[in-house]
Amino acid sequence: MTMLLYNTLTRQKEELRPIHPKWVGLYTCGPTVYHYAHIGNLRTYLFEDVLRRTLEYVGYTVKHVMNITDVGHLTSDADTGEDKLEKGANREGKTVWDVAQFYTNAFLKDIELLNIKRAETLAPATEYISQQIDLIKKLFETGHAYETTQAVYFDVSTFPEYTKLSRQKLSEKKTGVRDEVVEDPEKKHPADFALWFKRVGKFADHIMHWPSPWGDGFPGWHIECSAISSALLGQPFDIHTGGVDHIGVHHTNEIAQSEAAYGKPLATIWMHGEFLLTDEEKMAKSGENFLTLQTLIHKGVDPISYRYFILMAHYRTKLTFSWEALQAAQSGLDKLRDFVRKLQKVPAGMAGESTELNETRKRFTDAMSDDLNTPEALSVVWELVHTYHQRPSAFLANKILNLLYEFDDVLGLRLRDLCEEPIPREIAELAEKREAHRKEKNWNQADEIRKKIEDAGYELDDTNAGPFIRKK
Ligand SMILES: [Zn+2]
Repeated sequence: MTMLLYNTLTRQKEELRPIHPKWVGLYTCGPTVYHYAHIGNLRTYLFEDVLRRTLEYVGYTVKHVMNITDVGHLTSDADTGEDKLEKGANREGKTVWDVAQFYTNAFLKDIELLNIKRAETLAPATEYISQQIDLIKKLFETGHAYETTQAVYFDVSTFPEYTKLSRQKLSEKKTGVRDEVVEDPEKKHPADFALWFKRVGKFADHIMHWPSPWGDGFPGWHIECSAISSALLGQPFDIHTGGVDHIGVHHTNEIAQSEAAYGKPLATIWMHGEFLLTDEEKMAKSGENFLTLQTLIHKGVDPISYRYFILMAHYRTKLTFSWEALQAAQSGLDKLRDFVRKLQKVPAGMAGESTELNETRKRFTDAMSDDLNTPEALSVVWELVHTYHQRPSAFLANKILNLLYEFDDVLGLRLRDLCEEPIPREIAELAEKREAHRKEKNWNQADEIRKKIEDAGYELDDTNAGPFIRKK
């Protein structure tokens, strides 16, 4: 099975060639747990979930690691402003630890509602402080780090490939950074970024702090992903993902730290999910008004409809959010669910061997193996619905239902869970017996059996596709 994935590093689709024969290492940047996730963040986690499910579908075992940022992420990704966790704690009058716990739980609830599989390892940054300190020590040993009175920095001038992921010019980057307040006059280059903040100056009262060779303090944001990913997956590992907003700063810095320290790549393939736009703007959490999954739920939106809405667009295209578009997705999903419910009521046991849908399965797999083409995969799903409506039969109903369940291992629309209650085996067997009598035109026996089914609390409809049973 050839799996093509778009690698931001090379700007082209590449075949996945796992480093280890038995498993694929996947690292996904996790949430900063100082507030609820906005639905734009959730789009990225959905893309990553579809990636993981597709890898599993085509037969790989995936080792999935996600960090939880519970320290060190300042309000600007470029090391300025206040610590987001302390900001959250001040806003809510709680401790930083309580804020981290509360929003970690909120995040886990969100991903459960969206049917996103949880990473095997969720790694809070605060539990990997010693690994981060070790990596910074290594950067000193290899001549890539320096210390000022306020912090420890990565020296970008020592790593010529610094902008290879973003392909920005360092001079453009300088200008960007210069717009912000220069907070450390001892910094050598404006693009140098913090590896460790000391508990001095504006961070003198920072609540979370650990001892280090450079004094008490706390790690910068980027170092946690470098340290955690290589500690748990090795270096290099196969796939590193995040949102496109990670390309210019966060992932650029991760690459610089890890590759400068060890002289080998951090990850083979770098994948990035595009923005969700509202009113033509990127959805950012900087303002206090942002859409969360709970906002959608309060407006009557089923979280799985939001998942379906996201699947309708390719992960590398910008997607504009609107209530109308979400509504359209919801009604599409409702139609699909009605179809599945209908098929679920066809008694099981009528399926036989047939190769007729193998071509459909192949097209679905091809679409997903071609850089996760979810819009194409959904169109294969709708072709199945169409095929059935053209030639309804109990045989086809069972075949199609099983194939839809199989596809749903990738799409995650919870189609298997739809039937409120499965039809009991004895009722299904009665229906099969009755169907045999009908074919023999033994109407009396057929009616007797219908009465038995009804007495047991079920209704039976004869359709072109055979009998449909439902609970009264
Ligand atoms: Zn990260």
